[in-house]
Amino acid sequence: MDPIVIIGSGLAGYTVAREFRKLEPAASLVVVSRDEASSYSKPMLSNALAAGKGAAQIANATAAQMAEQLKARVLAGAEAASIDTAGRVLQLGGDAIRYSKLVLALGADPISVPIDGDAAADVLQVNDLAGYARFRAAIEGRKRIALLGAGLIGCEFANDLAAAGYGVEVIDPAPRPLGRLLPEVAATRVRAALEAVGVRWHFGTAASAVSRTASGLRIALANGDEIEADVVLSAIGLRPRTQLAQRAGLKTSRGIVTDRFLQTSAPEVYALGDCAEVEGRVLPFVMPIMQAARALARTLAGAPTPVIYPAMPVVVKTPAMPAVVCPPPAMAGAWRVIEDAAGVEALYEEEAGRLTGFALVGAACVRKNALANALQPD
Ligand SMILES: Cc1cc2nc3c(=O)[nH]c(=O)nc-3n(C[C@H](O)[C@H](O)[C@H](O)COP(=O)(O)OP(=O)(O)OC[C@H]3O[C@@H](n4cnc5c(N)ncnc54)[C@H](O)[C@@H]3O)c2cc1C
Repeated sequence: MDPIVIIGSGLAGYTVAREFRKLEPAASLVVVSRDEASSYSKPMLSNALAAGKGAAQIANATAAQMAEQLKARVLAGAEAASIDTAGRVLQLGGDAIRYSKLVLALGADPISVPIDGDAAADVLQVNDLAGYARFRAAIEGRKRIALLGAGLIGCEFANDLAAAGYGVEVIDPAPRPLGRLLPEVAATRVRAALEAVGVRWHFGTAASAVSRTASGLRIALANGDEIEADVVLSAIGLRPRTQLAQRAGLKTSRGIVTDRFLQTSAPEVYALGDCAEVEGRVLPFVMPIMQAARALARTLAGAPTPVIYPAMPVVVKTPAMPAVVCPPPAMAGAWRVIEDAAGVEALYEEEAGRLTGFALVGAACVRKNALANALQPD
């Protein structure tokens, strides 16, 4: 029997491998990754400074250790080039592997916006361990960091860098941080708390050019302002990696399209994690990936299992003003906000007061579990 082949050694790929192994101790399993295939916790990348960790300490197992743990072949530095879904063959550069079932756990690419200037190519992005190592090397001995993007990842990096003593300037076309996740009153609290630890905001504008100066970099903003910095980090969002699937003729939309069984449009090809669009939703967070991996492991082991999402709150790692968000599946209602000096509880309600999501800031974060329990599985 040909092996089950998983492409990707991130949270999605390794979790499905681990869960599958619990069910099928002897089946042949191969994990293919174009990176070094070490196992690490990606969420740590945006609070590693505060945790006193560098890239080397964030990795918790090498490819060889993972191969032993999973009783699998782990092929590091192996880029999947094409898939023949009719012949069930994966092409890796010169090598070909036959598969019985194939799992796409390819992750997502950081979005880059076009920026002018002779230092535009120096803008950094962090979406994996290697990117984090480059970022840490770049900020070593430097003082001023400009961050593009005030979403979840941008705010987390801003807090981590400010707490470590860096001067941080954040640029975002939106009027406030975490604009897509928090109602205005809650976002305003996060904004004020990060300001209090030294973060400077530039809302309602975007970086148009990054140029070298004698002492570092100059970022020209669309509103005419200029910022001096040593390093520019872009955190403006991710785009699911769909190219390999597209080339193989699989259905893609925002991500690789799957049903509730994580089944793509091709037989015996599945997708999960940041690359996947499961029944119309791209959910690039840890909890949905864990749910998807557990369901898919059962399907791969012969018991077709749909993924069912419980309430999945995401903790925003901004210790200056902790926040928790559980976005509603659809924006078909309105926020009801309860606030006091210590925090904000925002409940997203649809018709007849039905709770479909929530956002908590500050002391209200203690309500996370109670509210998550009040939400129905989706
Ligand atoms: C800084 C940061 C902080 C975060 N914090 C949180 C948090 O606090 N809470 C939360 O819920 N979520 C958080 N997230 C999101 C979460 O970490 C991701 O959703 C998750 O790690 C994605 O895992 P993945 O396996 O889908 O993708 P990835 O980890 O990107 O893995 C993709 C894998 O596919 C491989 N690959 C891609 N293309 C090919 C190819 N053609 N051939 C071979 N291999 C290939 C790559 O090498 C890689 O091994 C954070 C994300 C970031 C960037």
